[in-house]
Amino acid sequence: MNAGQEPMSPPSEGTARHRSVVVVGAGPSGLATARELERAGHRVTVLEEQDTVAGKCRSVDIDGHAYDLGGHICTPVYERTAALLDELDVETERTSRYRVLDTEGGEAARQTMSFLGDGALRRYLALREREFPHIAEPGLAHSARALAAPVAEWLAEHRLHSMAESFGTGYTAAGYGHLDDDLPALYFVKYAEMTGLLSQRTQLLGHTGAFTVVGGFDTLWRRVADELKDVRCGVRVVSVERDADGVRVHTDAGPVSADALVLAVPLDRILPVLDATEEERDLAGRVRANAYHTTLASAPGLPEDAFYFLGRHTASRAASGHCVSYHHRYPGSEVRTFYSYGRPEDVAALLPDDVARLGGRLEEVHLRQAWAFMPHFGSADLADGALERLEALQGRANTYYVGGLPAFELIESTVAHAQDLARRHFPPAH
Ligand SMILES: Cc1cc2nc3c(=O)[nH]c(=O)nc-3n(C[C@H](O)[C@H](O)[C@H](O)COP(=O)(O)OP(=O)(O)OC[C@H]3O[C@@H](n4cnc5c(N)ncnc54)[C@H](O)[C@@H]3O)c2cc1C
Repeated sequence: MNAGQEPMSPPSEGTARHRSVVVVGAGPSGLATARELERAGHRVTVLEEQDTVAGKCRSVDIDGHAYDLGGHICTPVYERTAALLDELDVETERTSRYRVLDTEGGEAARQTMSFLGDGALRRYLALREREFPHIAEPGLAHSARALAAPVAEWLAEHRLHSMAESFGTGYTAAGYGHLDDDLPALYFVKYAEMTGLLSQRTQLLGHTGAFTVVGGFDTLWRRVADELKDVRCGVRVVSVERDADGVRVHTDAGPVSADALVLAVPLDRILPVLDATEEERDLAGRVRANAYHTTLASAPGLPEDAFYFLGRHTASRAASGHCVSYHHRYPGSEVRTFYSYGRPEDVAALLPDDVARLGGRLEEVHLRQAWAFMPHFGSADLADGALERLEALQGRANTYYVGGLPAFELIESTVAHAQDLARRHFPPAH
């Protein structure tokens, strides 16, 4: 450990000294941070409680195909992710097309994109310029107060109904909540920006539109981990002690000491083992998440070869428990990936009926995965500056915070925020 730092104060920026860092969590944000730190000459240990890396970007093999349980779709604005894919020589491919499906077995249709052509886009761009010009940049704190209002209220205030029509179905289908929830507009607007549809850029890595990784998205994170010097999986953090000299992380496989700690896990999840400050405790108590589920199942008879958003179930939170979307990725396979919100027992009970009403039959369920998806703050907390308070903690008590809470729950958002944080706070060592 390095002695001489002030207790609970940020380290002096710009000092290019070698530092040792413990990163807790080996999802995209933890691994992106670790890669950046090692490249800058620092010594990094990554601790992951699961047996494998990749976090919410895990993939599994069934009937000879790789299925992504969580994050895998990249859009033309995923520049940092694309750079990693390129550096690590990971093969990519186009993703399936998107279709909106009426829940009662109607025709599949393209998503309406009226927002891009009805004058509302011009109004939105002017509003963005005036009130939240940094929204497309890494992080959320810069735009949080301007977009703290509940999304339905904000859309109505700015007469952006067509924005709701064009992005709401995909937003809800992807786990970010229903537009009649009280979620702050910040998250909806960030999502809309990250779809790439509001950007001039239409191509990345040779793909027009969205793309993903051949053979499962966890390939990328396994390659990132393979290049790191010290990644320890299946390790349970028991307690964390921090003082002026650095940090000591006690695990069921022994203690790890370092100059600094990066928490690449949601603050509320790590709180029970953290020697938390009052500020950390207060912020952690305000974190919310969505109960979102992936069910991987064989279900013959359903429409094929697309990512289907189920119109009626995405329209209101009253449909919680019902399936909001499913993906049929591999021609010739009957396996589909279904996505739902709500209590696990409701999701399991409603899926067979949802599938039947679409004309299919739910056969074998291969896997069910529940997620605490999209760590976020509510409107009142954003208006009160919760995200600015979280960013103000960066470096205090030798601790840094990355991941969906400060960055937004998308691969590119978490990677970009994590890389920028590492570059800003850990200059290259001599
Ligand atoms: C169903 C679903 C679909 C998605 N689709 C997309 C998509 O198409 N495109 C996209 O860009 N994003 C998508 N995402 C979001 C994307 O997967 C996440 O934003 C991204 O994985 C966040 O990375 P992270 O490292 O911050 O967190 P995580 O991926 O959650 O990783 C956190 C890691 O920390 C570990 N951990 C937690 N607690 C501890 C502890 N106490 N000690 C040690 N380790 C711990 C966890 O096991 C995990 O490995 C999707 C997510 C889900 C769930």
